[in-house]
Amino acid sequence: MNLNLLTAHELSESLRSAKITSAHILSDLKDRFDKVEPKVRAYARQPFFKKSSSRNSVDAQLNGIPVSIKDNICSDGDLTECASRILSGFVAPYDATVVKKLKEQGALIFGKTNMDEFAFGSSCENSSFYPTRNPWDLERVPGGSSGGSAAAVAADEAILALGSDTGGSIRQPAALCGVVGLKPTYGRVSRYGLIAFASSLDQIGPMTKDVRDNALLLKVIAGHDKNDATSVDIPVPDYVRSLEKGVRGMRVGIPKEYFVEGMDPEVRQALNDAKAKLESFGVQFGEVSLPHTEYAVAVYYIIATAEASSNLARFDGVQYGFRASHKSVEKEPALISMYKQTRAEGFGQEAKRRIILGTYVLSSGYYDAYYSRALKVRALIKEDFDKVLGEFDLILTPTSPSPAFKIGEKTDDPLSMYLSDIYTISVNLAGLPALSMPCGFTKSGLPIGMQILGKPFAEEDIFRLAFAYEQNTLWHKMKPKL
Ligand code: GLN
Repeated sequence: MNLNLLTAHELSESLRSAKITSAHILSDLKDRFDKVEPKVRAYARQPFFKKSSSRNSVDAQLNGIPVSIKDNICSDGDLTECASRILSGFVAPYDATVVKKLKEQGALIFGKTNMDEFAFGSSCENSSFYPTRNPWDLERVPGGSSGGSAAAVAADEAILALGSDTGGSIRQPAALCGVVGLKPTYGRVSRYGLIAFASSLDQIGPMTKDVRDNALLLKVIAGHDKNDATSVDIPVPDYVRSLEKGVRGMRVGIPKEYFVEGMDPEVRQALNDAKAKLESFGVQFGEVSLPHTEYAVAVYYIIATAEASSNLARFDGVQYGFRASHKSVEKEPALISMYKQTRAEGFGQEAKRRIILGTYVLSSGYYDAYYSRALKVRALIKEDFDKVLGEFDLILTPTSPSPAFKIGEKTDDPLSMYLSDIYTISVNLAGLPALSMPCGFTKSGLPIGMQILGKPFAEEDIFRLAFAYEQNTLWHKMKPKL
């Protein structure tokens, strides 16, 4: 058996009983990487095939397990470029809190995965390196922005991965690649060391082959951190232990606004089948309404771009990464020309679009018309969820309106790209946890994902439902032919 095909919980067992070593796992990952990476291009650069665990104790929860992390998460001494030219050559001088926690539990930081530049996108086509391809169909996108992490897990070039999710960037690629991805509650996982996109929306989360691994990885990375003032001091439950608590009597809402015309019929069918299966386990479903859903995309693209324009102001050619070999411009101070030319050459098209949009909605005269109003509607979207989650334990929706689209299909039409986030962004606006997991395949063999959303800090409930479903289906066992 090639060890790269196994999950972390399977590998941990064999590692503990000394049947295998982590060097075996790395060597099998290397063979797989050599074979499939030229087709998939999931990694931002060559991973570390030789590494020994910083900690070696049997009680460490991820002892000897390689973890692949998105290129926007800092790991000490490693290139961390956010798939952007403006950060080329940037070596992180410290570990993000999630990386520190992984290392404390014996995990190996295996490599950095490809992404849309600064996490702007839903397809990985905005990477300044190269697009990542969907392992199920190399002509199609893996989703984004954590497309590299999703594709690496789906192609068995990774055991566990981390992504980040601002508007769907963990869940949508998880859905399109047929893996499990969780965006935790805002504040559950420290953002310290995550290169910021939109600070009020960003969360780091696990991307894995199955639900048990997801619970295991969340348990390791979650928790309060004094370096992130928005992380919350609530005890971290043992997510793995509560997986098997059962789901009989759980109440799950289905929002009518999410099942509208224009939704792919195969996605609709897969969701209906999943619902029927869950009903047979004693889950009770009811139709619910989230009336402000129709404003979510607009609100998100105001708030997210506003925050991004502010966060990206720090990339000026002085402190980090790239600096243009600038020419002096008449009547302009040399420093100003350097800033301008660095930013003009360093940022890709989508990053520039977002900086311009964000600067516009924050500018005096437009601030109240756009930004302040968006914040008000954000509060209404959150209220919709509060109401429904007062009566229901969870909410079930599709993750993405369609399965993986073709590379190039939406690149000329940013709006249609933005609309592919329709089911995922409200969750970030409301700060809630949500998981995507495979719930079927299209006739042409593309994975379909469903999204399970929960109350703040109730990741346990989400995992319970997800686990019950997974135990009775085989979608997570399917492998792409590469
Ligand atoms: N696709 C969304 C965007 O482009 C979400 C990205 C993300 O979650 N990082 O903003």
